[in-house]
Amino acid sequence: MALIVQKYGGTSVGDPDRIAAVARRVQHTQAAGNQVVVVVSAMSGETNRLTALSGSVHPEPPPRELDVLLATGEQVTIALLSMALARLGCAACSYTGSQVQILTDNAHGKARILEIEQTQVSADLNAGRVVVVAGFQGIDEHRNITTLGRGGSDTTAVAMAAALQADECQIFTDVDGVYTTDPRMVPQARKLTRITCEEMLEMASSGSKVLQIRSVEFAHKFRVPLRVLSSFSDTGDGTLITFEENPVEAAKIAGIAFNRDEAKLTVQGVPDQPGVAHHILGPIGAANIEVDMIVQNTAHDGTTDFTFTVHRGDYTKARQLLQHTAQQLSAREVSGDDKIVKISLVGVGMRSHAGIASQMFAALAAENINIQMIATSEIKISVVVAEKYTELAVRTLHTAFDLDDDTQPEEEQR
Ligand code: ASP
Ligand code: MG
Repeated sequence: MALIVQKYGGTSVGDPDRIAAVARRVQHTQAAGNQVVVVVSAMSGETNRLTALSGSVHPEPPPRELDVLLATGEQVTIALLSMALARLGCAACSYTGSQVQILTDNAHGKARILEIEQTQVSADLNAGRVVVVAGFQGIDEHRNITTLGRGGSDTTAVAMAAALQADECQIFTDVDGVYTTDPRMVPQARKLTRITCEEMLEMASSGSKVLQIRSVEFAHKFRVPLRVLSSFSDTGDGTLITFEENPVEAAKIAGIAFNRDEAKLTVQGVPDQPGVAHHILGPIGAANIEVDMIVQNTAHDGTTDFTFTVHRGDYTKARQLLQHTAQQLSAREVSGDDKIVKISLVGVGMRSHAGIASQMFAALAAENINIQMIATSEIKISVVVAEKYTELAVRTLHTAFDLDDDTQPEEEQR
């Protein structure tokens, strides 16, 4: 008998009919001889609705109370799904994060899971019941309700699977797997049957929204077998996230991710001296602003330019802080741009193939797309370009790296 953790996202439980369909799938999985733990998100739109509701009462609600509010979304779905299962004659029991005792730290709104109590869940499973757990939430050591950040139900599912040593964690969503890039932008995008966990991590951290990045980190750390599947179709095995890799056989590029959620800031003419980078980024870090790419140019005439990117939402605040730092450093100027996109090529095959970067730059040059910043890791190359080129750049690279699905009939290509 296998133990399967299934996670259903917001659209998969978006209305009563869909909840009934999920219940049938769960029942089916159990009837095939498996123990099943189900983790659910709030019904689609619900977390946004609750966030807006809180905003109409307090522009910056106390984080503890916001978590109490947001956690209700998932509580609704666990109850409804358990009822739908009961209606099918399938014994099920729902639990909130605090009932299970999903213990987290106390960082409200972005809490990290520390430990999961398994006694009750295991007892239910052994008694033949389906266990339905609210995603996205836990409790801290003082029994405060916490939430894990947007998309956090993925992380709940992977963490449950790790704690219970499940045979597979299946993430059911509204796409039927992980694609070479967002199929809404590139209709020729191909579904991947497999992707390594390392590649998935880079894709998730570079803007791919299929899985919450923390869930992939968790899967990586605890080697949880993870599969992404569609809850709307019965066919296909989705995409398996694997741990073994064979760089020689691997395709050069697994996929292309893009992130429009960044903005770029530059301080020009800072002294070329020890401590300057720290002086610039210290206040940014102290203000809890995450920095992504960083580029410092070689010095000429004793000064240098320092450029970095932050989340677009932090742009104004970061720019104010930087203005202050620039004065202290007698820097020449602060400039910035929040109309940029970061586009990343990801693939473990990069380790064994040379010339990927130049191939990428050539493809962009051929379309006259100017590259503003470049960063690389062992299995990723990212460039920053003007946001208006997003679609052109992604499609161009998709074709240049042979990722297009040639089997798609022409008329389906919008
Ligand atoms: N309901 C939460 C959200 O919308 C968590 C999740 O869906 O994973 O972000
Ligand atoms: Mg979600």
